[in-house]
Amino acid sequence: MIVYQFGCPDHGPFDVRLPLGSAPARHPCPDCGLGAVRRWSTTPLVGDARARRTAVLDHCERSRTEPEVVHRLPGRPAHGRRPAPSPATAHLPRP
Ligand SMILES: [Zn+2]
Repeated sequence: MIVYQFGCPDHGPFDVRLPLGSAPARHPCPDCGLGAVRRWSTTPLVGDARARRTAVLDHCERSRTEPEVVHRLPGRPAHGRRPAPSPATAHLPRP
């Protein structure tokens, strides 16, 4: 899903999540229902890619000075499937 931005002349900008490539030129405003024009001033956001990227970069930066120490394998998920093995824990003994 992509976040597209539309602008209502009366109520201002609002975001709409739509499948990639399916954004119409106009979308009903959530406040007044009139067709709001799509704004092209910003690039469409792919999900919350920026937030995830920032979280990964922060984690990498933090691991330089505060590395996480793993003493045991994480527990099994509630649905019973094992998580994909991580290269960081591949050398640890398996239960
Ligand atoms: Zn409106």
